[in-house]
Amino acid sequence: KISQINIQSQETNGKDSEDSPEQFNLAEASLLRKVIRKGLIDSKNDIEIQRQNPNSPLYSVKTFEALNLNPNLLKGVYDMGFNAPSKIQETALPTLLANPPQNLIAQSQSGTGKTAAFVLAMLSRVDTTKKYPQVLCLSPTYELAIQTGEVAAHMAKFCSEIEMKYAVRGEEVSRGTHLTEHIIIGTPGKVLDWALKFRVFDLKKLTVFVLDEADVMIATQGHQDQCIRIHKNLSPTCQMMFFSATYDQQIMEFAEVIVPDPITIRLKREEESLDNIQQYYVRCAGPQEKYNAVTNIYGTVGVGQAIIFCHTRRTANWLAEKMTKEGHAVAVLTGDLTVEQRINVLDRFRSGQEKVLITTNVLSRGIDVEQVTIVVNFDLPVDMEGKADCDTYLHRIGRTGRFGKHGIAINLVDSDEAMNICQTIEKHFNRKIRYLNAEDSDEIE
Ligand code: ADP
Repeated sequence: KISQINIQSQETNGKDSEDSPEQFNLAEASLLRKVIRKGLIDSKNDIEIQRQNPNSPLYSVKTFEALNLNPNLLKGVYDMGFNAPSKIQETALPTLLANPPQNLIAQSQSGTGKTAAFVLAMLSRVDTTKKYPQVLCLSPTYELAIQTGEVAAHMAKFCSEIEMKYAVRGEEVSRGTHLTEHIIIGTPGKVLDWALKFRVFDLKKLTVFVLDEADVMIATQGHQDQCIRIHKNLSPTCQMMFFSATYDQQIMEFAEVIVPDPITIRLKREEESLDNIQQYYVRCAGPQEKYNAVTNIYGTVGVGQAIIFCHTRRTANWLAEKMTKEGHAVAVLTGDLTVEQRINVLDRFRSGQEKVLITTNVLSRGIDVEQVTIVVNFDLPVDMEGKADCDTYLHRIGRTGRFGKHGIAINLVDSDEAMNICQTIEKHFNRKIRYLNAEDSDEIE
């Protein structure tokens, strides 16, 4: 049983205008990926065990049966359509379910099965004879908490005695009550209020603490401190589970604070590369010429789908309107859309209903659309200081091993500054960006 909340529209943070460069938002991107992803990402890389307590052996399993789960929980796992553990789950699950409990830090890219792993561990650790919160899962945003809750509700479909509660905006409790649910899934601020201000549950009694999307958490102002405050009030025997899609120094330092004596496992993401990409630049005198270049290129290449990146929402909308007027079927995805609208746009594009997707940096990472053959940088990617943003360039254009097919990248250059940026990118990757005459796009290979 779980209290019902429907996913609400993401609040657009009013600060950005149509003309300001659209920024990539980690929490929103993570949510989109979760909602859109229809299955596991499988990685050719092997699990790396980065740190291991020498006193505790590390197991790995190839089946869910080998985990000796409660039969109703196993039924729930199969009901979700899972046949065998994913790569990260093979190692994470035996660790998470071990007795005595083991602390785990796990890092792997989104879509590799982390959520399913810790949700399974959360459910299997619950003692339903005790009517108080025993498991706490912290998520960075309302929407991500709801996503996790929905996975938990599905997996617990045949375990009706397990109860869960969301500690997120919109949920209220009154002082002096005591929560009886076994599992709490919430955002740090609300959890702090409930645990330390209203005292509706006792952090000391938790046996499992999950920190999901730790990288998004530390990217969100104030969340890291709140997590640490919550963590300080846990019992030393509480099992810590720490998950992140990315890996860097800052995240690992955060992990060190939260997770004593961990087993640390990592599944490296497949690197994006420009190896199979033909890169070009086109000189244009201004927006109108850029527009002409786009339609010329589109007219010639015509097969497959194209994504066009613009710097601002205004340019994206202007271009979309112009192309639509000329009878092209284009989709637009910008930061002012709600999450539902974005999912809708991406679903339509994936299914091929539109051939062209016009977007801003809100979509610079991670949304692989296999059939995209052309990426156009209507505006070259720049950072806050206007310098070449090579990372974003790679995220926009690069392909991972899985989509090793060739692709075409076209950069529209409308000033000397833009030319400089283009050259910086060329040097950075040491991959030629060739001149293309847009009037004569037969030159495209
Ligand atoms: P992450 O938390 O790493 O982003 P998820 O746990 O959300 O990954 O899993 C990604 C997708 O794969 C989800 O659609 C999930 O239902 C599915 N999935 C997870 N584990 C398995 C599995 N063992 N077998 C098949 N599908 C799985």
